[in-house]
Amino acid sequence: MNILVLGAGQLARMMALDGIPLNFKFRAFDVGPAIVVDPLSHHQYSQDLAAAIEWADVITSEFEHISHPVLDQCQQSGKLFPDAQAIKTGGDRRLEKQLLESAGVANAPYRIIQDRASFDEALSQLGAPLVLKSALAGYDGKGQWRLKSAQEASTLWPKIEAFLASDPKQAIVAEQMIPFDREVSIIGARNHQGDVVTYPLAVNHHHEGVLTVSVIDGGQSQALESQALTIFEALTQQLNYVGVLAVECFVVNEKLLVNEIAPRVHNSGHWSQQGAFVSQFDNHNRAVAGLALGDCTLRTPTAMVNILGEDAIDPQIYALPGCKVHWYGKDKRPGRKMGHINISAPDAHLLQQRLAELAQLLPESGFPGLHEYLHR
Ligand code: ATP
Ligand code: MG
Repeated sequence: MNILVLGAGQLARMMALDGIPLNFKFRAFDVGPAIVVDPLSHHQYSQDLAAAIEWADVITSEFEHISHPVLDQCQQSGKLFPDAQAIKTGGDRRLEKQLLESAGVANAPYRIIQDRASFDEALSQLGAPLVLKSALAGYDGKGQWRLKSAQEASTLWPKIEAFLASDPKQAIVAEQMIPFDREVSIIGARNHQGDVVTYPLAVNHHHEGVLTVSVIDGGQSQALESQALTIFEALTQQLNYVGVLAVECFVVNEKLLVNEIAPRVHNSGHWSQQGAFVSQFDNHNRAVAGLALGDCTLRTPTAMVNILGEDAIDPQIYALPGCKVHWYGKDKRPGRKMGHINISAPDAHLLQQRLAELAQLLPESGFPGLHEYLHR
């Protein structure tokens, strides 16, 4: 089975690593320079996109911000899973909101802003506080503004106006600020046959818009887990989806409100490399290749800690019980996702203890989100 991944970052790398035991072969299309590379070594193939499409049995994607001509070219081959429409939906908050509505899935009340009149209307109909998000190309909290009170409207508007003027394709999706109790994500897979599997809910902690810690200890209620499954089935059916899909949610009074979807493997699913029998990467490969999906049950409570902007950690970490370190082979840049640490324990209580021990070896300056999570 030859798999071509659109994107050549850490997600393609981890798909390829988990594809080796299945005898799958991988190539990655690095969309920036438009070159075909090995997702592990980054060795460049003398092949263009058309030749790579020809080489592939299946094409998939590691991120949603891919130009539409590239997506359309892949779609025409009949090999792209999830399909171009699902990937475009994940990359445009307007389409995402339409999807949530047509699938009957609860989400934050919103308005689309294109000019001063729609900005004023959003404020009067939704009220403050608001979160304003760019319709296209947002990730890790980038392309977002907060409006805490109506008095801030006149200072915020010039920034929004300049942003809208910079790209005619852009718009803003203004959402009511949700006073959530916590954030969780639903990760699951659907294959060509329509079979669905989902992992237990991950509880996610963000720092300055970036995921820092995910904890999966099976501690969410059965009622919440079953809401999650209903949402996952509704969204994947609506999209006729094939692959792993991630759904980020707010929990408000034990009810799920969907924040956004990611039509791909997701950072809050990395724990599954150690915490589940079959990882999200393995299940994504199986789904797109038409194999049976694997066991998603929790093998052992596990937490994932992102390594941001650092290319080395205290060597004692490698020896901690239940600890596994994953590096992405990237050059160091401030804030860049460089790797992650999965830490597992026999029960939820011991997991918190091990996380606290791990945090003692990770300085607060480099890991503010982890320390914030532990002192919450
Ligand atoms: P990602 O890295 O997940 O792609 P993103 O840049 O696409 O992030 P969102 O997930 O929409 O952006 O927002 C980032 C974070 O901001 C959320 O995880 C949540 O903590 C907060 N947030 C977003 N929308 C709202 C909202 N309507 N109410 C309250 N908090 C919000
Ligand atoms: Mg998000």
